[in-house]
Amino acid sequence: MNNSINVLRILSRVEQLAHCSEQADGMTRVYLSSEHRMANERVLEWMNEAGMTCHVDAVGNVVGRYEGLSPGLPSLVLGSHLDTVRDGGRYDGILGVLAAIECVDVLNAQSQRLGFAITVIGFADEEGVRFQSTYLGSRAVAGVFDAELLQLKDAQGMGLGEAMREFGLNPEKIHEAAMDRQAVLAYMELHIEQGPVLERELLPVGVVTGINGAARYAVTFKGEAGHAGTVPMVGRRDALAAAAEAIVWIENLALNTPDLTATVGAIRALPGALNVIAGQVEFSMDVRSAHDAIREKAQKAIEQELNNLCDRRHLSCHITLLQSTKATACAGWLQAQVASAISVEGHKVRYLPSGAGHDAVMMNQLTDVGMIFIPCLRGISHNPRESVTSHDVQVGCEVLLRFISQFKALGENHD
Ligand SMILES: [Zn+2]
Repeated sequence: MNNSINVLRILSRVEQLAHCSEQADGMTRVYLSSEHRMANERVLEWMNEAGMTCHVDAVGNVVGRYEGLSPGLPSLVLGSHLDTVRDGGRYDGILGVLAAIECVDVLNAQSQRLGFAITVIGFADEEGVRFQSTYLGSRAVAGVFDAELLQLKDAQGMGLGEAMREFGLNPEKIHEAAMDRQAVLAYMELHIEQGPVLERELLPVGVVTGINGAARYAVTFKGEAGHAGTVPMVGRRDALAAAAEAIVWIENLALNTPDLTATVGAIRALPGALNVIAGQVEFSMDVRSAHDAIREKAQKAIEQELNNLCDRRHLSCHITLLQSTKATACAGWLQAQVASAISVEGHKVRYLPSGAGHDAVMMNQLTDVGMIFIPCLRGISHNPRESVTSHDVQVGCEVLLRFISQFKALGENHD
């Protein structure tokens, strides 16, 4: 193939998007923020340059379309997310959007039209930082955005619906972001691995087999606040000590259960003073596995243990399941086409699962999904130190472009 992937252009765009951040020394770009708006504007520009017609959809995603041999053909959807976690990295999500735009740019520069259209989407919210609910962008595109989500509030108490209006969107029109099932052939997402496997094996690219299922919780323990000096140790109802015990129990469960991860990543003690017994503690909990049965069993065990522990310590315990997603399998026929593209490009085919969630999870409600991983430095992500090599970006884009060029929809003749 006359390959003209321009890695420098991709990396320069990564840098430009890195400036659309709340902070100068790391990446924070949350849903419906001014940084989100800035990023959308840049991405719209680049999609335009690549020969796509593009717009911001009803939920705030950037959507570009590159027509096939004739207008209106069903499309292969490519994409990833443009939002970041707090103090995150510059490649997570963003790279998948830029890689897809780059591939379209190459096709457009060569005046190549394919037997299908290409839709590139920069999803507005995958990480769920602002409203504590992930995949808001891809939910809308997949047509599974539940109107109840509009009641969610951010840390400042602003409702999701209100934030959408302030951004210039109309929450009543979210359904307009949904793609028509008949008009979609498949979804493919390139993403950094966010784990150490490919780097350890010195491989520039991998075929993702599926995405682990995940459950997210908000837990509140309520006890009784009191003076740290005058209330005797015996009989205290210390919510923070109870939470500490719970967290270690959760860690041990995951340590002793194969294919399970469980993490308490955020905690808040109230009133939160040096000389006061914590009367209330709120913490998050994240439980994941490639096997739904393992995850569901662990969730039950954890819920039981937290209740028992609170009973024993005379605390009240409120466990709220914020979100639960089943494990998502990448379609076998898409895995096979990615594997073929990797082989043709001269690389070893390595299959691996994804421990992190991706927009592909929601897009799987709409269509078959596949993913391509490229390594990131020491597997680090959700961190300003997130890093990739230009070589791996090059290979990842070449594989994606090869995949697109060779793409055959399900049921099409593969000969
Ligand atoms: Zn991501």
